[in-house]
Amino acid sequence: MIIVLKPGAPSETVDELLASIADKGLKPLHLPGAERVVLGALGDERVLAQLQLESHPMIESVKPVLAPYKLVGRELHPQDSIVSIGPLAIGGGEFAVIAGPCSVETPEQMLASGRAAKEAGAGALRAGAFKPRTSPYEFRGHGAEGLRILRSVGDELGLPVVTEVMDAADVELVAESADALQIGARNMQNYTLLSAVGRIRKPVLLKRGMSARLDELLLAAEYLLAGGNDQVILVERGIRTFETATRNTLDLNAIPYIKQRSHLPVLVDPSHGTGVRDLVIPMALAAAACGADGLLVEVHVNPAVALSDGPQSLYPDQFAELMRRLRPVAEAVGRSVA
Ligand code: PEP
Ligand code: MN
Repeated sequence: MIIVLKPGAPSETVDELLASIADKGLKPLHLPGAERVVLGALGDERVLAQLQLESHPMIESVKPVLAPYKLVGRELHPQDSIVSIGPLAIGGGEFAVIAGPCSVETPEQMLASGRAAKEAGAGALRAGAFKPRTSPYEFRGHGAEGLRILRSVGDELGLPVVTEVMDAADVELVAESADALQIGARNMQNYTLLSAVGRIRKPVLLKRGMSARLDELLLAAEYLLAGGNDQVILVERGIRTFETATRNTLDLNAIPYIKQRSHLPVLVDPSHGTGVRDLVIPMALAAAACGADGLLVEVHVNPAVALSDGPQSLYPDQFAELMRRLRPVAEAVGRSVA
């Protein structure tokens, strides 16, 4: 329920109303605005009828929250959320770029790839230590050792680091080394993992499942916010369609659709979204043009020998070209690129 108070409602009234919402077993939300205070009540809204809020002298209106993703939706939270990964603010006026190799392979590969990302202007470094792979015989990441390598490269370059967590049992371990956790496409509906990541207080990148609808993505994010972690960034990374020319079909409809309904920042991953290196730059530019808050992009110092996702990884000079070409596109839609 959205409860809009009249202008000038005293703080005692706000406190009393919040307490009576909590007394009814609902979760109270306090959303002070520039002109008036809005309160939220989450849970079984029928019990609120007993409070007869409509006839309260300091209440202007009482409306139900229509979207099923109540914390993720804009109804209770109309202004954009900004989620910061170290110094990189995502969801504000700047277009954020997180770049790096698919996997942490060696300290040398990680440092050279990270340096290329940083020199071209990336604001954070990505790389997987725990890798979800379709075949059990493929490289599945260096695990804890990969986390150590990533952390030390991030520290050396002065960049915050993002890496995937695949298992609820590893959330603490990954959160100790990473500045932000990634929940991969294959785990978007792993509700045990979502609940575990909802309990920590670190930013999280939630990737859309390859066959997930947008309402399912938004409800997966709702798990994180309902658990108390509101530092959530959504990532469109392409979906499965009948098209086989590309690894996935990058669904750019998702960007304005989500931005209209949710206050959370949205990134686009044109690397997994296409699976084809030469399609990454044009789709990254398209992502900026349609209102994404930034990119998650794979860059490798030598993609030919990459242990995962080489064919979709940009060469360092291509990444530098992408960063150059992004600026005018981002500026045309009112954003700057750091
Ligand atoms: C990745 O970012 O390397 C990755 C495995 O992505 P996704 O979960 O989108 O496939
Ligand atoms: Mn990858």
